[in-house]
Amino acid sequence: MFISKRVEALTPSSTLAITAKAKELKAAGYDVIGLGAGEPDFNTPDHIIEAASKSMYEGHTKYTPSGGLPALKEEIIKKFKHDQGLTYSNHEIIVCSGAKHALYTLFQVVLNEGDEVIIPTPYWVSYPEQVKLAGGIPTYIVGAEAQQFKITASQLKEAITEKTKAIILNSPSNPTGMMYTADELHELGAVCLEHNILIVSDEIYEKLIYGDDKHVSIAELSPELKAQTIIINGVSKSHSMTGWRIGYAAGDKQIISAMTDLASHSTSNPAVMAQYGAIAAYSGSQEAVEEMRIAFEKRLNIIYDKLIAIDGISCLMPQGAFYLFPNVKNAATACGYGNVDDFSTALLEEANVAVVPGSGFGAPDNIRLSYATSLELLEEAVERIASFVEKKSK
Ligand code: PMP
Ligand code: GLU
Repeated sequence: MFISKRVEALTPSSTLAITAKAKELKAAGYDVIGLGAGEPDFNTPDHIIEAASKSMYEGHTKYTPSGGLPALKEEIIKKFKHDQGLTYSNHEIIVCSGAKHALYTLFQVVLNEGDEVIIPTPYWVSYPEQVKLAGGIPTYIVGAEAQQFKITASQLKEAITEKTKAIILNSPSNPTGMMYTADELHELGAVCLEHNILIVSDEIYEKLIYGDDKHVSIAELSPELKAQTIIINGVSKSHSMTGWRIGYAAGDKQIISAMTDLASHSTSNPAVMAQYGAIAAYSGSQEAVEEMRIAFEKRLNIIYDKLIAIDGISCLMPQGAFYLFPNVKNAATACGYGNVDDFSTALLEEANVAVVPGSGFGAPDNIRLSYATSLELLEEAVERIASFVEKKSK
């Protein structure tokens, strides 16, 4: 009875809920394989842990500036220069408690009641909820499977209304693993510039790309696009630091300054030792980042073939991130389930495999499988799914 209407309307994060449920079942003794978690299974590289630990012994245990330690901002600035050729000043960077919190703070700062934010589907589960919490209205453009789950410039043009304030792009994408090419981003960017729409570019999976594809940030395509883009990134996925909660936003000075003011009344600052860890993550060797990427790619290549061999399951080959997003509608129907949500529940309860139903990502015919777990467990999980489908569809 004391809950606000705003929060009453909130759908909790399905990705985190499935992860928690799988952990709970495992702790209760069930032989559950969790493919729900969107986090690398490797521990954070040693040199990062050591740097954070050392920083605490050296007395860095106090508040930091709300927008983050200047030394960390410097490392982030160097990273942008090195990876994207982008130049930012430290007034154009804010460090937050994870990329999720950077996005949350951004929407609070730029959205007024009733502003529309375009979210291409399939989308990461937190985008619509964060937009709504800031008084905004999510409007969706369908990135159909036939167009690699991506949206086109003409779709974008059609979806724009006078209330459209921003668009969220996420490349490589969670949950599909798809990436926009530079040409596609040019076309989308031209529409955003024409209609003065803020581009929120979530690049958290930038370091996890397979095959020959190259990451392109829309902000690197022109100075005009850079000025109208807020890049979101962080060390959670690249350096296997999900629990450390360090992410950041880069872009327009006024927006970043407003975000920093808001942070000064909410978090005060991201945890200081985690910031020291992030400094080590960016200033130290990037070998571990590449080793993890290679391990993910190897798993993907092995598991992908096994997955698409299952009757009623089809899947686009992801280009990045660490998720497979197969269409399982036919398998679910053949097994006697009216929808994929029920199929996913049965997978957990009867086959002991936890996956995230696509409905939470705006794609109800799909499920999301994270391959950020050991190859052995992945192979076992896909075998369980295969025998479940075979048994049920008889
Ligand atoms: N964006 C996307 C697309 C994600 O998958 C995640 C993972 N949680 C985040 C942002 C947030 O990352 P962080 O752990 O840094 O909050
Ligand atoms: N981003 C990850 C996922 O999609 C972590 C969980 C979350 O923050 O939603 O599973």
